[in-house]
Amino acid sequence: MNTRIQFSDFHLSKELGKAIEDMGFEEPSPIQALAIPLIQAGRDVTAQAQTGTGKTAAFGIPVIGKIDPAKRVVQAIVLCPTRELCIQIAEEFSHLLAHLPKVFVLPVYGGQPIDRQLRALHSGVHIVIGTPGRVMDHLDRRTLSLHDVHTVVLDEADQMLDMGFRDDIELILKKVPQDRQTLLFSATLPQPIIDISKRFMNKPEFVKVQYAELTVPKIEQSYIEVKEREKIDILCRLIDIADPHLTIIFCNTKRRAEELAGKIKARGYRAEELHGDMKQSQRDRVMGGFRKGSIEILIATDVAARGIDVDDVDMVINFDIPQDVEYYVHRIGRTGRAGKSGKAITFVSPKDFNKLREIQHYAKVQIPRMPVPSQSDVAETRTKAVLEAVRETIQAGGLETFIRVIEKETEGDLNTVDIAAALLKMQMEERLEAPAEKREEVDFADTGAEAGMVRFFLAVGRQHKVAPKDIVGAIAGETGIPGKAIGAIRILDSYSFVEIPKENANEVYTIMKERTIRNQPTGIEPAAGKRAY
Ligand code: ADP
Ligand code: MG
Repeated sequence: MNTRIQFSDFHLSKELGKAIEDMGFEEPSPIQALAIPLIQAGRDVTAQAQTGTGKTAAFGIPVIGKIDPAKRVVQAIVLCPTRELCIQIAEEFSHLLAHLPKVFVLPVYGGQPIDRQLRALHSGVHIVIGTPGRVMDHLDRRTLSLHDVHTVVLDEADQMLDMGFRDDIELILKKVPQDRQTLLFSATLPQPIIDISKRFMNKPEFVKVQYAELTVPKIEQSYIEVKEREKIDILCRLIDIADPHLTIIFCNTKRRAEELAGKIKARGYRAEELHGDMKQSQRDRVMGGFRKGSIEILIATDVAARGIDVDDVDMVINFDIPQDVEYYVHRIGRTGRAGKSGKAITFVSPKDFNKLREIQHYAKVQIPRMPVPSQSDVAETRTKAVLEAVRETIQAGGLETFIRVIEKETEGDLNTVDIAAALLKMQMEERLEAPAEKREEVDFADTGAEAGMVRFFLAVGRQHKVAPKDIVGAIAGETGIPGKAIGAIRILDSYSFVEIPKENANEVYTIMKERTIRNQPTGIEPAAGKRAY
């Protein structure tokens, strides 16, 4: 007997029930099983669950159930952080409304012509899904009235706060009647969200789906021990071996994502970066390309990738180990979606082992180590792929003309295995000689730093009003290495010295050459050993 909660337990209208069936949902996800009955009972609910766990339908189903189609006024409003999410949520709602053609949903977000939104609003929509900024615009223009709203949903609330929408959200909530139902969904529940819940919600019920219930068996997790400067080579080998359809690579900072995207593209991969500072039109272009597969590798930061759902991602690589355990869970949740299998590989450099232990502990997973793939592993996979293609070509037939050419041109003086081997060799060499980027290897032999560190000279000093925190801030911010890994700093009048762990030295040197500290070019160079002081 099945004792798990079923959609039929929610006593949904037959139109809604049919739509859910059409969507292929067999049973409620854990967050849906927890949240839907509470929402139907009229409670305010604050719900926390990882990305990809079906939060949209968790509020979509009961909210739709509350709409009176006969009243052509806005009855429910969903606030979410980005245009991409507005569209995704609106799509999920329109699927849920497939058999309820008299209920209208309107997404409103910046960048979309406002008059189209105005016309739609004027003709009477029941549910508005919008970014706080654009909703405020409409409220200011008095083109949207919230007088009849009985339900407000804050979706991806943590991200909305991260993006600075707090004031807008508060203003919007103040314009909705007091006796409304307020629902808040978030992947994480930091204190500011709890504060909002307490201030703007009526005795909210907190529901949370724990990690343990979320561990997705279909995601094969592993880590690889790498030094910072080997990361790119190993990354490329992993991609060459796994030959994934779509990959997301996570970096900890926007700068790192940009750098990596540049380098990967230079090696001939179809990659693009996605980070929070990009214009909406750029983001749309990148996401569109990724969905279509014309972009195969997305290099993303945590904030930028949040909430985006693309089903065919077969590999996630944490190029930088996530700084937050929850990020780890979100990142790997990008793959193994919609019942498909996926791989998640985390790069762990010597300084990251504590973080790795922390992740395993809190996410309650054992992440096995995988050996560093070698160049010969790549060659082996390539050989197999080429031979497989050969087999397929033979099976497809139509080789007679070519056989005749070979027989005629070689006049039997070449043996067929030799010919095949030579063709394979040529094919492999061509593939393996993909444009490799020349790495800038600098010898930091004697810079006078303490053991394990490299001392750099910087052409900025007291006269440029540079303090140690500026140097730490610039280097940590630009390269993603933790501030506490940065060693001794000495600031003189017109220049300074800073010590960096050896394994990061190359990276810091390459990146900081192109950067500024307090608006001065860094002029970074390896220090000249004993002569330096
Ligand atoms: P979240 O908002 O938690 O990140 P979504 O609401 O975007 O997750 O849902 C992720 C995917 O799971 C969507 O494609 C959605 O249609 C699908 N989904 C939601 N609920 C169910 C369910 N009960 N059964 C199967 N798939 C579901
Ligand atoms: Mg969501």
